Amino acid sequence: MLTDIHSHHFNAPLDGIRISNILNVDRLEEYLAGEGLFSVGIHPWHIHPDHWEDDIAIIKKNMANPKILALGEAGLDRLIDLPLNIQQDVFMSMIELSEEAQKPLIIHCVRSFAELASLHRAVKPKQKWIIHGFNIRWEIAKGLLDQDFYFSFGSAILHHKSAAALALEKMPSDRFFLETDESHEPLDSIFAAAAKIRGVNEHVLSDDLFGRFKEIFNYG
Ligand SMILES: [Zn+2]
Repeated sequence: MLTDIHSHHFNAPLDGIRISNILNVDRLEEYLAGEGLFSVGIHPWHIHPDHWEDDIAIIKKNMANPKILALGEAGLDRLIDLPLNIQQDVFMSMIELSEEAQKPLIIHCVRSFAELASLHRAVKPKQKWIIHGFNIRWEIAKGLLDQDFYFSFGSAILHHKSAAALALEKMPSDRFFLETDESHEPLDSIFAAAAKIRGVNEHVLSDDLFGRFKEIFNYG
């Protein structure tokens, strides 16, 4: 069973389990009425400074729904214009929802790893924090591993010698997931590449990740 913990695709064919990420909170209830498994959050790129608290309220109202396996994606992004303090307020609310719903948090983090690490130290969350789309230096991951972070890797691992591929190679076997995110690369190619990088059999890898999926996302 292949597992995709973070995808922006909703209807693409898939041989496995996919967590589709809902970015548009206004459509949350519509998605929940249909088929699928979801994560929902306020992405830093989609924060409405004047009504993000209303979006939080909609998420809060629905977050116990069993089709929602995780909160997020949410996080911090230094490359956008929106001031970091507003991003932090929204992210803090998402952290609180994750703790309250007892569901893991899927994190978008761009050039804000020091802030993320210090937030984790301050909050001491019970829920797992999963940094998705990881594609930077192993040294950064290493520090975060000591703080109990999880990581998810996507199509960047298909590029030979990418930071993502190098980090995946060194990752402890119980701390990572795979994802398609916005990519149109099929999930099985991402699994095949990951198996090769890890030097393990593809079936062993997919069984392992499915086991971790059930555990961390409280699935099945
Ligand atoms: Zn994403």
